[in-house]
Amino acid sequence: MNADEKKIVTRMVSIYCRLVHGSKTQLCDECDALLTYAHLRLERCPFEEEKPTCASCPVHCYKPDMRQKIKEVMRTAGPRMLFLHPIDTIKHFHKERQRDRHFVAKEKSSKKTE
Ligand SMILES: [Zn+2]
Repeated sequence: MNADEKKIVTRMVSIYCRLVHGSKTQLCDECDALLTYAHLRLERCPFEEEKPTCASCPVHCYKPDMRQKIKEVMRTAGPRMLFLHPIDTIKHFHKERQRDRHFVAKEKSSKKTE
């Protein structure tokens, strides 16, 4: 479970580390810790296959500082993922959209906005 998510997050962190921290083959300590943390969260995610993206997840299981870091990683590496790994990325975002729709539909019935 969540094997694809792990692959994606691993790639995003390595892209980010290379761009921002100038690492060559290995992640710096900070990014290594972040990746380990992200994998652990995926393993413990109560939604498993049904989960929305971490960005829209209602649980917000990340600690605030880790959340800040992973958001930064996604903002920086996200657009580049599309060029480097288009198939995986499109598959990932397609899956995300379906999950999001599921969650947004639930949310909308409880509070009326827009
Ligand atoms: Zn780094």
